[in-house]
Amino acid sequence: MQDIFNFSAGPAKLPRQVLEKAQAELLNWNGLGTSVMEVSHRGKPFIACAEKAEADLRSLMQIPENYKVLFLQGGGRGQFFSVPMNLAGRGNLTQHLVTGQWSQIAVAEAEKYMSVEVLAKTKTVDGYLSVPTQEEWQINPKAAYFHYCTNETVDGIEIDWIPEGGDVPVVADMSSNILSKQLDVSKFGIIYAGAQKNIGPSGLTLVIVREDLLAYARKDTPAIFNYQQQVNNDSMYNTPPTFSWYLAGLVFEWLLEQGGVAAIEKINKEKARLLYSAIDNSDFYRNQVAIDNRSKMNVTFHLANSHLDSLFLEQSFAQGLHALKGHRFVGGMRASIYNAMPLEGVKALVDFMQEFERVNG
Ligand code: PMP
Repeated sequence: MQDIFNFSAGPAKLPRQVLEKAQAELLNWNGLGTSVMEVSHRGKPFIACAEKAEADLRSLMQIPENYKVLFLQGGGRGQFFSVPMNLAGRGNLTQHLVTGQWSQIAVAEAEKYMSVEVLAKTKTVDGYLSVPTQEEWQINPKAAYFHYCTNETVDGIEIDWIPEGGDVPVVADMSSNILSKQLDVSKFGIIYAGAQKNIGPSGLTLVIVREDLLAYARKDTPAIFNYQQQVNNDSMYNTPPTFSWYLAGLVFEWLLEQGGVAAIEKINKEKARLLYSAIDNSDFYRNQVAIDNRSKMNVTFHLANSHLDSLFLEQSFAQGLHALKGHRFVGGMRASIYNAMPLEGVKALVDFMQEFERVNG
């Protein structure tokens, strides 16, 4: 079979070495004569596997001691309501930055539990989508928390700076750029991420929560979404998604072998630079995001002539460049180039784009 490059936004490409390891040990995991999916989450072998995954993640992200790591279910959307439910004891006001589709949906969900104030929204400046900097808005010291999304998967917008919350905990949806670059975890109250981009298969949700924030859950918070209750049970209050957790552990091992987050960040920068310069150096393709806000994970672009969209998708697919269709809300194209996408994949895409322009431009 021809090698393909999968640019899916999520569930997304996993490192080949990880899949090969999972395949090799599928029928006989840990010498048990059975797969990892078929053993108790309370048995010693799985607990060791779960603990190793957490330790590796802690080392990759340099997570400080006073933060708990939870391996939950419910996806990114599950956190859109879990965060307000778990922090409601801090007050009724939450402030949000809205930078695209996902942070907007987070507002709609939080409104069921809190009084939500939208501090600012992405605006258009000189024809480019631009995120207002913190000089243009202010976090209210009385807010229970401040919420934003570090990378808007649909819109291709990424925020490279960390908002300063003062005493107000900063909560970040990092579903689509966690582990893609170095990060100071201590600047955040809560970080959460659905696994299906940079972590592993879907079904698993990571929550990294500062310990002092565990005391504020509403009484009616369902037990499986109650952070404190999950902390007390090592994320095993209910049966965890064991296969996804195991696979996430393999992805963390892979990332450590690559040289960790600092090493992958370098490659990610180079991949994004290559792709954006191909777009910027052509009138045939365009990207509508201000340079400072361009995502290094989800590169959105439009063809100047949208009548060519279907031909572009058909021919790129035939060349093994899969899942380039933009989200239906945005149209055009989107190349998701998470950690598992090698530089060669981006080079192959750029070559295809240039050839497509030569023939159709
Ligand atoms: N936040 C972001 C940034 C996302 O990209 C997604 C899904 N792609 C979600 C939240 C929702 O995640 P889930 O589908 O796991 O609920």
